[in-house]
Amino acid sequence: MVESQEETIVAVATPRGEGALAIVRLSGCHAMRIANECLGRGSPVDANCDRTLLLRDILDQDGERIDQVIVTTFVGPRSFTGEDTVELTCHGGEYVSARIVERLVEAGARVANAGEFSERAFTNGKIDLTQAEAIMQVVSARTVHSLRAANSQMNGGLRKRVQALRERILHILAQIEARIDFPEEDIEPETAATWEASITSISEDLQTLAAHRERSRMLIDGVSVAIVGPPNVGKSSLANRFLGFNRSIVSDIPGTTRDTVEEMIDLDGFPFRLIDTAGIRNPADDIEKEGVIRSRRTMEEADIVLITAAADQAPPEEFFQTCRKKDIWVVNKCDLELDARWHSFPSSWLPVSCKTGAGIGELLSLLRNKLFSSEPETRFLINMRQNDALQRCREHLNASVQMIQKGLDEELVAIAVREAIQAVESITGGALDEDLLNSIFGSFCLGK
Ligand code: GDP
Repeated sequence: MVESQEETIVAVATPRGEGALAIVRLSGCHAMRIANECLGRGSPVDANCDRTLLLRDILDQDGERIDQVIVTTFVGPRSFTGEDTVELTCHGGEYVSARIVERLVEAGARVANAGEFSERAFTNGKIDLTQAEAIMQVVSARTVHSLRAANSQMNGGLRKRVQALRERILHILAQIEARIDFPEEDIEPETAATWEASITSISEDLQTLAAHRERSRMLIDGVSVAIVGPPNVGKSSLANRFLGFNRSIVSDIPGTTRDTVEEMIDLDGFPFRLIDTAGIRNPADDIEKEGVIRSRRTMEEADIVLITAAADQAPPEEFFQTCRKKDIWVVNKCDLELDARWHSFPSSWLPVSCKTGAGIGELLSLLRNKLFSSEPETRFLINMRQNDALQRCREHLNASVQMIQKGLDEELVAIAVREAIQAVESITGGALDEDLLNSIFGSFCLGK
């Protein structure tokens, strides 16, 4: 439910827990009145206080001090939400910040829903939906390339491309609609061919754009790398080498890693989710059995699998079938004598030693280059929702091309093209319904 913008909303914008400082955010047409009601001695905050800082006390209803705060005032529309906004920077205690929110509610504010500040910024035209979603991508970025892509997105990376496509589709729609006004004339074959060519070209550009989804997903969520192999070959040791610290339990008792362990690593600025799995063998008990089932599932779902084996043992046959083309065979313990059967192994494999560190650097470079080759830097990101919209837009455009080819009425062609426009507009937010907006902003953090 979209709440009334008449209401002034309040929330703690910083994470829960104790810290040096916390920020309480207040936004809406009564923000200044509500803040003034709670602030101690000093001149009131008003329209002349745009982007000023004031050191003030915040008082309870009996005039007792709750905390000393820095009051930052943003006069609408020059604020994030586009409304008058007052931010109170208080001491970073959970109770004190919650007490300030309570005090502001007593004075007339309402506690904000998750993502409601961003939703207001969107509703007030301060940002479009791709930029709103990029805020969360900035918050969750773990590496330099993820952050760069999210920042480009905030600067309109995807919006500009989507708007350009929309303009091109609108241009064709205008031509089609112009024809509808003269129904007595048949469409000349040249006109139909021009429309067809223009629409097909847009559809191809949409596909090129959608091809960035895979890279975006890897930048947003991280590339999943599963370390899989028989027990005791050094899978946990390999994970620990990657992480640079002991995260998994390393021991020489087969079957120690019973569950999957997941960690994010930063490889040359790209995010990789490293998944250390239970060794795959005939499980000794039910817990281990569950671990093995999870390992197999992880292997199927991972972007890339490091099939890990030991140099002093025979190549593990159980992995010959499941190995995919993009997976990497890693032969650990190359400090030990190599089992002769590796000489005739049909796939290429990379020798490493977790003990000495040999080959680990090569393995990391191989991984990085396999997933993020020398393509130019991504200047925008495409999330699942945006990708769906791009696909829908293409489907409508392709349908319109078929209609043109069949010589169907221009009215019908125009309907399909209009639907394509709606799909592309939903990326920036134009044609989205309330429920969808709520579900998008509802996934944001409180105070955001
Ligand atoms: P996992 O069961 O596959 O996760 O294997 P672990 O990482 O727990 O390692 C099993 C045993 O192999 C431990 O005793 C490790 O110290 C040993 N190990 C791991 N890597 C190497 C290596 O490169 N060389 C040698 N010689 N031993 C290793």
